[in-house]
Amino acid sequence: MAKVPDEQQYMERCICGNCPSYPGEGGFFCAKGKSSQSITRRGCICGDCENFKEFDLKDGYYCADGAAGEGAQ
Ligand code: SF4
Ligand code: SF4
Repeated sequence: MAKVPDEQQYMERCICGNCPSYPGEGGFFCAKGKSSQSITRRGCICGDCENFKEFDLKDGYYCADGAAGEGAQ
């Protein structure tokens, strides 16, 4: 099970679009799973997101590593 519910209210919090590593499409990777694009790791701003705090996430880079709770935590 992914840690973050795939629901609109949580998706609206996502700040991936402002991230230097953002792959240009998609988002809400902590719930939706990894991007189909290859990711160049230029930093991850998930730590500033309300979902990161509320769901006690740890790592970030969900766009590259997959949804929180599925592989990446
Ligand atoms: S924790 Fe990261 S991937 Fe998840 S909603 Fe927030 S910014 Fe997006
Ligand atoms: S999951 Fe993290 S690294 Fe990937 S786009 Fe969102 S904030 Fe950036």
